[in-house]
Amino acid sequence: MNNQQFDSQHIWHPYTSLTKPLPVYPVKRAEGVYLELEDGRRLIDGMSSWWACIHGYNVPELNNAIQRQLQDMAHVMFGGITHQPAIDLCHKLVELTPDGLDRVFLADSGSVAVEVSLKMAIQYWHSKGTPRHRFLTIRNGYHGDTFGAMSVCDPQGGMHELYTGFLPEHLFANAPQCKPDEEWQEDDIADFAVMLAEHQHEIAAVILEPIVQGAGGMRFYHPQYLRRVRELCDDYQILLIVDEIATGFGRTGKLFACEWAGITPDIMCLGKALTGGYMTLSATLTTEKVATTICNGKAGVLMHGPTFMGNPLACAVANASLDLLVNSPWQQRVCQIEKQLHEELAIYRDHPAVADVRVLGAIGVVETRNPVNMAELQAIFVEQGVWIRPFGRLIYIMPPFVMPSDELRQLTHAIGIGLNTMI
Ligand SMILES: *Cc1c(COP(=O)(O)O)cnc(C)c1O
Repeated sequence: MNNQQFDSQHIWHPYTSLTKPLPVYPVKRAEGVYLELEDGRRLIDGMSSWWACIHGYNVPELNNAIQRQLQDMAHVMFGGITHQPAIDLCHKLVELTPDGLDRVFLADSGSVAVEVSLKMAIQYWHSKGTPRHRFLTIRNGYHGDTFGAMSVCDPQGGMHELYTGFLPEHLFANAPQCKPDEEWQEDDIADFAVMLAEHQHEIAAVILEPIVQGAGGMRFYHPQYLRRVRELCDDYQILLIVDEIATGFGRTGKLFACEWAGITPDIMCLGKALTGGYMTLSATLTTEKVATTICNGKAGVLMHGPTFMGNPLACAVANASLDLLVNSPWQQRVCQIEKQLHEELAIYRDHPAVADVRVLGAIGVVETRNPVNMAELQAIFVEQGVWIRPFGRLIYIMPPFVMPSDELRQLTHAIGIGLNTMI
């Protein structure tokens, strides 16, 4: 049995079948903005490995950080022990995130950061002596694959049907329709406002992705929507959880997407690009008020503590990644990518296979009229020398911030070739 056969029979990839496997491409190494396949072909990376590798691959500063940390310790438990890499990281996160978010929980993946945020909200209300367990969110959201996170994902896209009876039932307001570059329509918030008012006494928190809804549809919405959400949560004294796992660390052109609305959430989830895509690590930040309330409650503690919490290697590389980011002209780079995406994707707007084209920061989305054949389109992209992984009716790219303009042009050009095969 060769590698390919073993893989297809024995190894699950994200959302795949072991009886009808789709092709997978063996990658040997990755450097800069290129993935190199076993057969020697080099592909320009349009995905940043799902938002994470914002500096590209094989980055000397990040390699060094891990190697240095490895001399001291790869891992040590976080219960009853602390260490410099974790302290440095939490310092940086408190400094970089909006004012007021200064209590940090380090977790191991985005989904777990979301679980922790939900637990914080539930424990907050429990401590106040008025327990609440319901969450209000908006449709088309994506918050991760663990059960708590799944329960606030879009009910259709998140396949709630499959888990009915197991998933808690939360509240879903209509997704915002008003786009960032359109004139704000107060109507857009109406459904959300009504649901919040109706259920104000049972809702523990509102949870949503700020400005960009990622895996639930790659949709962008108006900052005023987020501002109104913050105001309404304040009016009813309901907590606001902002999931910045995809948007955090510069992707939208601001360091955090909630800066577009100038708001501070009560709880913020971070992940994906936190370590520059080197290791799995996430963080849930909250305010002194929420933390104090939780810790003054009956439980007396925040009820969570994963084995690999605060892993030193992951914290060390996160520190190096954040230093690299803030000391780089990232804003200029994202701006440049945005400009080029606007120019080069605009021509597809009138393409017969295309329903919509949208760009925000270093994110370019072409929404097609019909669902793509993922395997077919993927193969065409690989032939074109690019790595783009479409799904549903979405062909989208979010390249590393260091993407040179010639390589970016090859990505946008390849999208056109892919689209031409769809008519
Ligand atoms: C990817 C993602 C998650 C889940 O993160 P994992 O690391 O895959 O568990 C949660 N929320 C958002 C917005 C994401 O994009």
